[in-house]
Amino acid sequence: MMKGGSSKTAVVTGAGSGIGKAAAIRLAKEGYAVALMDLKENRAKAVQEAIIEDRGQAHVYDIDVSDESRVQEGLAQVNEQWGSIDVVFDNAGINGTFAPIEDMKTEDWEQTIHTNLKSTFLFVKHSIPYMKESGGSIIITSSINGNRTFSGIGMSAYSTSKAGQVAFMKMAALELARYHIRVNAICPGAIDTNIGQNTEKTKSLEKVQIPVKYPEGSQPLEHAPGTPEQVADLVYFLASEQSSHITGTEMYIDGAESLL
Ligand code: NAD
Repeated sequence: MMKGGSSKTAVVTGAGSGIGKAAAIRLAKEGYAVALMDLKENRAKAVQEAIIEDRGQAHVYDIDVSDESRVQEGLAQVNEQWGSIDVVFDNAGINGTFAPIEDMKTEDWEQTIHTNLKSTFLFVKHSIPYMKESGGSIIITSSINGNRTFSGIGMSAYSTSKAGQVAFMKMAALELARYHIRVNAICPGAIDTNIGQNTEKTKSLEKVQIPVKYPEGSQPLEHAPGTPEQVADLVYFLASEQSSHITGTEMYIDGAESLL
């Protein structure tokens, strides 16, 4: 790849699957050189191949988003390779362990908080040196579950991490406005991705499950989960100049699921 090329550069975390994958493909189609960051390098490589086949530019970075030194190294490598960082889509996340609070293991709580929330702090903090001269856009994937209790229990760590991301986003938007760095959060409802496959549910959860009020994942608008591609449209909007006066905002993309 050419160092210092003319195209803009977008960093996408969790780029190997689901929302991150769809956003990476969309941003590449729009002309961004895309830095694909994921724990699962093989998945990200498949996304890279698809982008290159479509004449786009992408490179894979094998990064645990909760590991500060890897985040710093990764962003430095992106800047070295492409000459700028214009957009950061801070998206990687896990459901982690669903368990009643009294049975939640501290290490499980920490894994969710570190993967979902500490990573957001790390990406914003360590992107600033590369974005402060020319400005840019940071988009954080939170969730409608940062602002409500969902239809079951056991999601205390996940919901806390997602609410924390929104609070942090607002502070970052305020602080970084002076550099013309916009910071926004997207709050998806249920989206058809791989996230449920790695969710740990403790046995104790079954004993205290409260009745589900409506079918899981149902959304008034479509009666089905949304698609990663629908979320990618919003990510592109927030990345682009079309949203040049939007910062410090959380945008719901949930087919009105959060209103149920
Ligand atoms: P996904 O599991 O399909 O994709 C997530 C990707 O993140 C995977 O490729 C995974 O390998 C990667 N990842 C996980 N931990 C990582 C780490 N420590 N370092 C680097 N990469 C890591 O899930 P998704 O649904 O696309 O989730 C993306 C984001 O969307 C998450 O933050 C999630 O909380 C949020 N979200 C999802 C939904 C939904 O219904 N799918 C709803 C609201 C919010």
